[in-house]
Amino acid sequence: MVMGATHAMSGAAVGLAVADLLPTDWGGPTSTAETFAFAGVCAGAALLPDLDTTQSTVARSFGPISKALAAGIDTLSLGVYRVTKGRKDANRRGGHRTFTHTALFAIGLGAGVSALVGQFGRPAIIVTLFFTLGLALRGLFGGWARDKGWLIVTAVSAFLSVLTWQWFPDQVGSTGLGVAVALGCATHCLGDMITKEGVPFLAPFVPLGGRRWWELRLPSFLAIRAGGGFERAFLGPALTLVAVGLALWSIDGAPEAITDALRNSVQVAQ
Ligand SMILES: [Zn+2]
Repeated sequence: MVMGATHAMSGAAVGLAVADLLPTDWGGPTSTAETFAFAGVCAGAALLPDLDTTQSTVARSFGPISKALAAGIDTLSLGVYRVTKGRKDANRRGGHRTFTHTALFAIGLGAGVSALVGQFGRPAIIVTLFFTLGLALRGLFGGWARDKGWLIVTAVSAFLSVLTWQWFPDQVGSTGLGVAVALGCATHCLGDMITKEGVPFLAPFVPLGGRRWWELRLPSFLAIRAGGGFERAFLGPALTLVAVGLALWSIDGAPEAITDALRNSVQVAQ
């Protein structure tokens, strides 16, 4: 499993878990369809931060459009870095793993999505769905996406977003999509944090020894190598199992059915 798939799968798992816990006032889903849409958006958003380099797989999700977007985000991130950097922060040539890998970006983008959905309603919902579900497809089914090419990926995500959009009840809270997007971005950063590079998650607000873009990371003996053996053999499969388990659990009526079945089998055994 490559890093993109791990990011998307962790986004899906976190999205499913949080969908269950999030109060409805905060846009918490109230049906199975909404829960899956919430988790799908979260899975796609968990790939968004890597749109800060044209080298990432996700930058290929929508062909030349996402490539151009990635180049723009790279330049913008580098600009933010240069303007806010502390006196001891190194000079950089590219913006990868800077601005889009901060809490500021996650919260700002989530709030922005919520504001747009609040303002424009359904058109803003469908754009968010289209974009994030396309990224999720690219992340979760990387082999398929590579074989079929970006045009097919774009067509399938357009189809899926129309479908998901129709499932949504009219009164769907604008907050929910924003929360899913912010959560996905934060999950991505957490994933990068456990690799050797780390992320400047708190930048540029917390100066430390003359640096504002210092990186949060695990101590090196705990850190894993991106795309390495641990990720392929354990982390990837474990996340997949957790996500599938949570997905089954969030189907309406499934928890009751499972506990009933368990209770019955215990009675039969007695
Ligand atoms: Zn990243």
